[in-house]
Amino acid sequence: LPSQLAEGLPLTVVPADHPRSDDERAKILANPGFGTNFTDHMVLVRWTEDQGWHDAKVQAYQPFSIDPASAVLHYAQEIFEGLKAYRRPDGTTATFRPDANAERFNNSARRLAMPELPPEAFIAACDALTLIDQDWVPSEGEMTLYLRPFMFANEVFLGVRPSKEYYFCVIASPAAAYFGGGVSGVSVYASEDFVRAVPGGTGEAKCGGNYAASLLAQAQAAAEGCDQVVWLDGLEHKYVEEMGGMNLFFVYGEGDDAELVTPDLTGSLLPGITRRSLIEAAGDLGYRVTERKISLADWRDDVRDGKITETFACGTAAVITPVYTVKARTGDFEIGSEPGPVTMRLREYLLGIQTGTAEDTHGWIHEI
Ligand code: PMP
Repeated sequence: LPSQLAEGLPLTVVPADHPRSDDERAKILANPGFGTNFTDHMVLVRWTEDQGWHDAKVQAYQPFSIDPASAVLHYAQEIFEGLKAYRRPDGTTATFRPDANAERFNNSARRLAMPELPPEAFIAACDALTLIDQDWVPSEGEMTLYLRPFMFANEVFLGVRPSKEYYFCVIASPAAAYFGGGVSGVSVYASEDFVRAVPGGTGEAKCGGNYAASLLAQAQAAAEGCDQVVWLDGLEHKYVEEMGGMNLFFVYGEGDDAELVTPDLTGSLLPGITRRSLIEAAGDLGYRVTERKISLADWRDDVRDGKITETFACGTAAVITPVYTVKARTGDFEIGSEPGPVTMRLREYLLGIQTGTAEDTHGWIHEI
């Protein structure tokens, strides 16, 4: 394990007294689900106004003891990230672009008036947890170890101002494919009643509050029989922004001439690392990619006119998932009922890089 997370931030390792047995772990890994089982350890680092980041440790996974007046419980000063550790064909483990997650984490921190964490400490913390719990990195199919770094305010004070104390923590959870049945498509509900983010708001940050505010619309989508919400822009409720936990791509045309369109980063959608990677990966495969606004009405009309042939969602958890059905108050439409060829080609290419079966020409893989 690394002896420090960054210059001047030594790492103390206190191994768990009672890690799960090989049998218990094997049972969990046989059917991990998503986000319900956690590994034996966690990383914890404290920040105070006086000392900055200090007291970094790897210790047994355990509950926090939090004062009822802890700032995060009242004003939601909390941010997080999500990335995966993959088992490589040679048995080693690796993460995908953890530097990009570290950078986005610090962008989120700035927006929420929280202290930044040196990117090397973010990456070293993920590495340390993956290493000490490496037996938890699954080696079968599309299973991975999902890493969840997060930071929360923990000052005991009810005044509304940035906290003077924080914890940074990393936990890990073995994960099966996000939507259960492999590459099955999803149905989505375009929310015309609620918005996720507005210009100048926190949409670009990965803060817990954004997700709290999304739950009612997600429930509405579920009541309409849909898997996910599609968010429209906060001003005109017209342009497609993203989904609950994924960005969107629209495939115009077919075959090698296909063009990919993805909503541009307006400041109110989350800049996905999968999105960013696919823009480059699509270029490798010879597709044109355009970042621009696309309205719900254009999406519907262009599907009807046969211009849009496929639509897919992308994100760390779900990789690439086709969108088959769109429901909205202004009219439902169907895009398809099986994964499209461009969707599948990109999915295989990206997964190949991530799992180590395809060449990593961009230097995206971080070996641990
Ligand atoms: N949008 C939202 C709202 C998300 O929560 C996520 C998941 N982090 C994404 C998009 C996709 O981002 P990434 O590709 O970095 O996982």
